[in-house]
Amino acid sequence: MPRGKKTCPECKAECATRTNSCSCGHVFKKSQKKKAPTSFFQERRDFIKRMLNGNKSSNYKLDMMAATKVFKVFENDVNFLSKVKPPFELTDSIKYFLTKAGMDYLRKKKLEFEYKPKNHEKIVDHGLKTGEDILLQKRKTLREFLDE
Ligand SMILES: [Zn+2]
Repeated sequence: MPRGKKTCPECKAECATRTNSCSCGHVFKKSQKKKAPTSFFQERRDFIKRMLNGNKSSNYKLDMMAATKVFKVFENDVNFLSKVKPPFELTDSIKYFLTKAGMDYLRKKKLEFEYKPKNHEKIVDHGLKTGEDILLQKRKTLREFLDE
């Protein structure tokens, strides 16, 4: 396609890129490419709300700070952060996640979240791990890496 042109999906006519609609009546949707990077504001708010389980935050600013830190550490992994449950009932603040214990809890949950059990996978007894087992694991890791 020549530069500055786009093809109408309806009649296949070439239209100027800036044209909003084709002569056949087809209206072009605006390009999604220039979408502003989201700040995950709503997601952070939802995270706080879910963690407090209906309780009211006593310090929303602090909770927002905690949520922002959590989102940063977990690289805005909304998929995980929208599902993880609180470690215990958080009554008025999620500041627990600003502590090492709180962060460790989330990291552990994240590992559990990402762990997908495979069928017929041999369970390795870690207490009896042999050199061969370790080598096998390394190979597996490399293969998984290459498969990605
Ligand atoms: Zn058209």
